Amino acid sequence: MVRGRLLEGEPMSRHTSLRVGGPARMMLLARDVDDVVAATSWAREEDWPCLVIGLGTNLLVSDQGFPGLVVKTHPGLGQTVWEEESVRVEAGSSLASLAREAIGRGRAGLEFAVGIPGTVGGALVGNAGAHGHSLGELVLEAEVLTDQGERRTWPPGKLEFGYRTSSLQRLAAVVLSVRLRLGHEERDRLRARAEEFLRRRRRSQPLGQPSAGCVFRNPPGRSAGELLDRCGLKGMKRGGAEVSSVHANFIINRGGATAADVLELMRRMREAVCQRFGVLLEPEVRTVGFEEPVW
Ligand SMILES: Cc1cc2nc3c(=O)[nH]c(=O)nc-3n(C[C@H](O)[C@H](O)[C@H](O)COP(=O)(O)OP(=O)(O)OC[C@H]3O[C@@H](n4cnc5c(N)ncnc54)[C@H](O)[C@@H]3O)c2cc1C
Repeated sequence: MVRGRLLEGEPMSRHTSLRVGGPARMMLLARDVDDVVAATSWAREEDWPCLVIGLGTNLLVSDQGFPGLVVKTHPGLGQTVWEEESVRVEAGSSLASLAREAIGRGRAGLEFAVGIPGTVGGALVGNAGAHGHSLGELVLEAEVLTDQGERRTWPPGKLEFGYRTSSLQRLAAVVLSVRLRLGHEERDRLRARAEEFLRRRRRSQPLGQPSAGCVFRNPPGRSAGELLDRCGLKGMKRGGAEVSSVHANFIINRGGATAADVLELMRRMREAVCQRFGVLLEPEVRTVGFEEPVW
């Protein structure tokens, strides 16, 4: 028995920042950690594919949707406990809101995250970061649900953080909560740092338009956005999808874009960079519900 709402055939476009994606066979808006544990164990027993999502800000879901159970952690798993040297936060909490609250409390470490949309859980799985910092640096431990349904507390060593990666992806573990180390610093200094990060972001990203952030990872020592820009791809369109004219590594939904449009643009972007620079870009967005191989 779960406490959250169950939705049948819920369009994923309502739960992704890119605003594309077909229906989820079933979606649970989880109310709490117990809901996530119960729903994922039910899916395992019934042999349904299961996908845990946060705010869908790093997702490209196919037009066919997801043929299984989607468990959404936001906003149900939203508890936060402030401790003297750390904060314990549940996976469905908004990372940017947590960062803002930390600054207001004079707690240091999360200023880099004020402009990163999405949840703490999603950020942990992909080791989200910006301005030379990433979430993994602050992690003391994470409470996870293994792919066998066991609740475990993992130390940072077991989480194996890398550039936009963690072992959670490979091990298909679900994040329930995390404890982050946060120092103490004057609020005004924290605010000034965060404001500067937000200013840079506003200058360089198409913030008012639906997107999934950077679609490709930066290849070692290079900027994917710069390589794409040098291929002259800004403004390239397919259906309702367009390579942003502000940032060449962003695809925006101008209205009515399909996942097929977005994927086709990504293919063309990848091919252009490969031909011109001999570099094969790897996607940063998570593709869901497509026939493999996607590329
Ligand atoms: C405008 C914009 C700017 C962005 N800027 C940045 C940036 O500066 N830096 C950066 O790193 N990213 C950035 N992103 C991408 C995105 O915000 C981050 O990757 C974010 O951390 C994703 O969190 P989410 O909750 O939306 O995850 P979702 O998109 O919901 O999910 C992403 C992946 O994580 C998995 N997942 C989510 N929650 C859990 C959980 N609790 N347990 C296990 N798996 C889970 C999902 O299954 C999926 O594979 C940006 C996106 C946008 C739209």
